[in-house]
Amino acid sequence: MASAEKAAALATAEPSDDAPTIFDKIINKEIPSKVVYEDDKVLAFRDITPQAPTHILIIPKVRDGLTRLAKADEKHIEILGYLLYIAKVVAKQEGLEDGFRVVINDGPSGCQSVYHLHIHLVGGRQMNWPPG
Ligand code: 5GP
Repeated sequence: MASAEKAAALATAEPSDDAPTIFDKIINKEIPSKVVYEDDKVLAFRDITPQAPTHILIIPKVRDGLTRLAKADEKHIEILGYLLYIAKVVAKQEGLEDGFRVVINDGPSGCQSVYHLHIHLVGGRQMNWPPG
């Protein structure tokens, strides 16, 4: 399958705003995940399908309408900034001294598959540009 077709197949149509996602089960520890950072506001855990030696997802524990970045409102400014800051904290913890990448996939065209906003932190290899 061509990579564009594969990306389209991985992305999912946008579900309703209150539809639960697999990340609820991860937050509630109903399914296991490899947690690398946790506090009262955010959880960071290793992606189950890593795209680089380090591939970590950083998510807000309370979705609060943030199914995707496009749904961000002024009330989300603080948590969005905090998620980005924690990406930096985790990158340091992972020893990514030489650099890393943070990604937010938004919506079907952005190849989003889980509708609970999350930051991908990827590193441990040379990244390329432009992204696929
Ligand atoms: P998106 O495609 O929405 O930007 O990213 C969703 C990410 O969640 C994907 O990279 C996918 O591998 C990851 N993922 C999906 N289900 C699970 C799971 O059950 N456990 C973990 N650790 N990651 C998951």
